[in-house]
Amino acid sequence: ETFENMMLKTELLRGIRALSLEYPSPFQQKVTLPIINGHDIVVNAQSGSGKTIGFVISALQRIDTTKFSCQVLILAPTREAAQHIKNFVDGLSHFMGIKSCALIGGSRMQDTVAALEQGCQLAVGTPGRVLDCVQRILLATDDIRLVVVDGADEISWNGLITFVSDILQSLSKGTQFVLVSPSMPDNVVELTRKFMLKPLRISV
Ligand code: AMP
Repeated sequence: ETFENMMLKTELLRGIRALSLEYPSPFQQKVTLPIINGHDIVVNAQSGSGKTIGFVISALQRIDTTKFSCQVLILAPTREAAQHIKNFVDGLSHFMGIKSCALIGGSRMQDTVAALEQGCQLAVGTPGRVLDCVQRILLATDDIRLVVVDGADEISWNGLITFVSDILQSLSKGTQFVLVSPSMPDNVVELTRKFMLKPLRISV
């Protein structure tokens, strides 16, 4: 398998080449196409599997660049994790003309508002700040077609599952949900039961 035969947009392939990625990792081989094809997925990947680049490539491929609304939401357990994901979004989307925003707790709300005003087709953030943006109607969720929850086990340990649950509750029914977690605490299992329809379970 190569990135070239994954049927990705040309501008996205340019971003992949610019990061000097040669071959997709096992995560990227197993998970990219099922995400692009719209499945709900539970995947038990760890850091080091290439998970971030894998779900970011899939998410970017899913965005309709002719629409300016937010179409993808990625949630991460910590500020550092969210920023790490945002960096890959910036790198991989460099040639795509996609607008993305980091909605990260601890930064000034005015900065988040200013960023959202520039446009946001893909949002990456931590659960508390994202929920805050949704509740204040700063982030419109109507057109979100894919939500990725990365590090769900850590989100659970950090006591942030209820924020994630409230965010998922606010999305349209049928929004695609991809959950990445090396372990499955009870409240994460409950989240998949409540918000997923016959998920694919992928082991990396
Ligand atoms: P992650 O599993 O997302 O924490 O990523 C682990 C590391 O693997 C990151 O530093 C990536 O830059 C790197 N990486 C991810 N995918 C690839 C790939 N296909 N080829 C080479 N390096 C990669």
